[in-house]
Amino acid sequence: MLRKKTQTKYIFVVGGVMSGVGKGIAVASIGRLLQAHGIKATAIKIDPYINVDAGTMNPTEHGEVFVLRDGLECDQDMGNYERFLGTDLSGANYMTTGSVYRKIINDERNMRYKGKCVEVVPHVPLEVISRIKHAAKVNKAEVVLIEIGGTIGEYQNVLFLEAIRILRLKESDSVFLALVSYLPLQGDGNELKTKPTQYAIKSLNAAGLHPDMVFARAKTPLDKKRKEKIAFNCSISVENVISAPDVESIYDIPNNFKRENVDKIILESLGLKSRGFRFKDWAHAARRAHSAKHRVKIGIVGKYFSTGSFMLADSYISVIESIRHASYSLNLKPEIVWLNADDYVGARNLNDLKKFDGIIVPGGFGGRGIEGKIAAIKFCRENKIPYFGLCYGMQLAAVEIARHVAKLKGAHTVEINPHTKYPIIDVMPDQKEKLANHDYGGTMRLGSYTARISKGTIAEKAYEKHTISERHRHRYEVNPKFIAKLEKAGAVFSGKSPDGKLMEIMELPRTKHPFFLGTQFHPEFQSSLLSPHPLFVEFIRASAEK
Ligand code: GLN
Repeated sequence: MLRKKTQTKYIFVVGGVMSGVGKGIAVASIGRLLQAHGIKATAIKIDPYINVDAGTMNPTEHGEVFVLRDGLECDQDMGNYERFLGTDLSGANYMTTGSVYRKIINDERNMRYKGKCVEVVPHVPLEVISRIKHAAKVNKAEVVLIEIGGTIGEYQNVLFLEAIRILRLKESDSVFLALVSYLPLQGDGNELKTKPTQYAIKSLNAAGLHPDMVFARAKTPLDKKRKEKIAFNCSISVENVISAPDVESIYDIPNNFKRENVDKIILESLGLKSRGFRFKDWAHAARRAHSAKHRVKIGIVGKYFSTGSFMLADSYISVIESIRHASYSLNLKPEIVWLNADDYVGARNLNDLKKFDGIIVPGGFGGRGIEGKIAAIKFCRENKIPYFGLCYGMQLAAVEIARHVAKLKGAHTVEINPHTKYPIIDVMPDQKEKLANHDYGGTMRLGSYTARISKGTIAEKAYEKHTISERHRHRYEVNPKFIAKLEKAGAVFSGKSPDGKLMEIMELPRTKHPFFLGTQFHPEFQSSLLSPHPLFVEFIRASAEK
């Protein structure tokens, strides 16, 4: 019997009142629940800015730049989707205003609109809809979750709201719209105020849309009275007003949503049937965030942290989550401390690092804080403090060993000193031209590459295999001319590209140091609660043993 082709369903998630209320995690959590019901779900992020991708943006502007397997540089929410859904997403799952406009303008130049007048409406929303449908197809998804960046009421995302309106007009039974809104606590009382959310819904109404569900993000749970108030004033059924208070661990959110019947309401409303609910593994892993007794204290030496008087922890979200995944899997509670690289310049304050069980130098670009990072790495090496270098953190570890063990005075990466006598880290040949042409967007070594792991190394012990695939985002590499010198100084290149030319992992043998390892790639882009990254697990284990 031929199975009737079911229509793809679309769940749009928009944000109200303010940004940063957790739309991404809401999308990821709904997706996780649908998956637990046996439904194939995928997630799309739409960012309203003109940048074609997130690659050229400074992390203080936009948080972490996440890299997909196919090399697309995108918003950190894509990382949340991958971590919750346990699947690799592709560039088809991401768009910005810039990428949409670029396509439309190219199509117009190529006469694909057959001489028509190409207009903002309907052509932009139609292009958005066509991309959403394309993503559904390449992911073979029954349900597509679409997060619209920005906040309701701002000018930036109106064309995306228009896309929802048009899709709903055509396929009303297949579209579900959720608003993730914020409810402030008034004064020192504990009453959550609903009015800003009511206004957000009115703004949605002005765009021709009405939400099917409202997530009430707030410090505390939403009581029945306030639920009824939103329901009554905004014509939404009380059950569809969801209490979504702050949580200690984001991995509890799918379970919290379940308790509020979010999955049941969405399934019913879209005419979908559960194929049995399998959620034990997630619930079990999520519980470990609370049950761990012993602590492990990890310091991250970086620079992108302050914007004005705020700290921007978002810049390293994947690193933070990877530390958590690995720690939870070992029944440890991680304490993560931000360390400003500049504090260690001139070998100041280094003794403070002894307070930590392990130190990470994450990815980075440019010169600020670099001497502080190198000083911190040297201190970790000499004092046997577990050290994990991610991309820049590996390159700088190579520079450190070159300078202080191989005694190559002034050794450096050419990113910082193009005239160094000892260019330990050099620009890749194909990159030279790109830099000369100021061709910066999407031109680094990006996305997944395979590497071979050598026997008898920490990397082998961690991965338990000899071929790996990891994601990259960098222009510079260990200079082949200095490999012999670095090896003589004790460095072991335990991961290499299949042709043996590119150094992907550098470590010191266990006999010399409990854990000193750097990766040219970004392992943090492939870690999840249910599948913690093996190198993070090894690093946290060594840290806990310290
Ligand atoms: N700046 C270095 C490079 O471009 C490292 C990049 C990174 O850490 N992602 O190679």
